[in-house]
Amino acid sequence: LNLELINTGSELMLGRVLNTHQQWLCRQLTALGYEVARQVTVGDTALAIQAAVCAALAEADVIIVTGGLGPTADDRTREVIAALLGRRLVLDGTVLAAIERFYAARGRPVLESTKAQAMVPEGGIVLPNSVGTAPGLIIEAAPNPWRPAQRPSLLVMLPGPPRELYPMFAAQVAPLLQKKFPPESVYASRVLKTTGLGESMIEERIAGALASLTKNGLDLGYCARVGEVEIRLSARGSAAQEMVGQAAQIVCDRLGPCIFATNDESLETVVVRLLTERRQTLAIAESCTGGYIAHRITNVSGASAVFLGGWVTYSNEAKQRFLGVPEEIIAAHGAVSEPTARAMAEGARRQQGADYALAVTGIAGPTGGTTAKPVGTVYIALATAEGIRLQHQVNHFDRENFKQATAQQALELLRQTLISSYK
Ligand code: ATP
Ligand code: MG
Repeated sequence: LNLELINTGSELMLGRVLNTHQQWLCRQLTALGYEVARQVTVGDTALAIQAAVCAALAEADVIIVTGGLGPTADDRTREVIAALLGRRLVLDGTVLAAIERFYAARGRPVLESTKAQAMVPEGGIVLPNSVGTAPGLIIEAAPNPWRPAQRPSLLVMLPGPPRELYPMFAAQVAPLLQKKFPPESVYASRVLKTTGLGESMIEERIAGALASLTKNGLDLGYCARVGEVEIRLSARGSAAQEMVGQAAQIVCDRLGPCIFATNDESLETVVVRLLTERRQTLAIAESCTGGYIAHRITNVSGASAVFLGGWVTYSNEAKQRFLGVPEEIIAAHGAVSEPTARAMAEGARRQQGADYALAVTGIAGPTGGTTAKPVGTVYIALATAEGIRLQHQVNHFDRENFKQATAQQALELLRQTLISSYK
């Protein structure tokens, strides 16, 4: 199946909005067993949309177009595609009634421009919008004069707002595609997430052992992010499941505890799960990460069962006052030092009565570094019932990535402690 994706929107071309539809739709389509052959992004002009749709009509069985179905003058997708396929736009009474209900429920008047959203190309299928006003549309170009042998193409138009597009695709488009185009071959894929190793190091450790599988069609990919590397294993065909399973086993054997998830779980999700299973609790004392570790932990549903509380102790006074870090320690070693990190973690654990307390203190930069403690210096401490674990890192990043990397190291220190202390 040849599938193409066209994302429209001048805001995407201006760099003002990140094209998350590309990622989200490609992920969904991959999970359904399809391969996206091409993706293009174009601005909001009729000419650009027309050129992109024509090019796709010449090759693709399915074309998904996002954006430009709204009521404003820069929403041109519907018109352009109708004109291109020679379909008249007809007012659809059901859609208009839905739009009128939508506005009536909010006590707002229906403007004339809004009614444009009820115009449906002749022969088009309407995808009701459960969240907004612009319905999605499906048109089959059959016969399709742009394609050799006039082979048909299916055009799917989806609204731009993510909260409208996601449910529409999941509830309406995905089932339709599965029915009309059952995947030709089995597709299996697994993502293993690692932290603490660079991608070249990972490749060196696993590529050789996977060589015979990759020769037989296993697709092996790496995706490096700040503080973690994803290893993607995928295959097609009847042996796909088995091949991916074998490959995952080899990778797990070679990388062992560096792998923190064998599905799409985040490190914080894993940490919360491990703490929950062990019925243990966590406190957090942060300086240079400004609450980011607590933010990540509290992004996980169910965190309240394990996370007791935390502090952002940015000043020396706050470290003393809330965590009981002795003034002499800060005076003798500095706020960014191993003894301070230790005292912060011990103080946080004591104050909250938690099983574990994580503390971080460091120099995010770009200013404030010294020869002895360059920008990026971080001390991480984990206080436990058995004692303290300490880590020293130098994270050379801008401030935001510095927080990300430091939080990752702190969470990983906790995860390693949790997996080694039990079972
Ligand atoms: P509306 O009725 O809101 O005008 P629309 O179907 O015309 O919907 P657009 O105007 O293209 O869609 O986009 C609406 C919103 O969706 C904007 O906030 C836009 O930034 C966002 N959006 C559009 N396309 C994308 C994309 N590819 N990735 C992320 N966000 C997008
Ligand atoms: Mg719009």
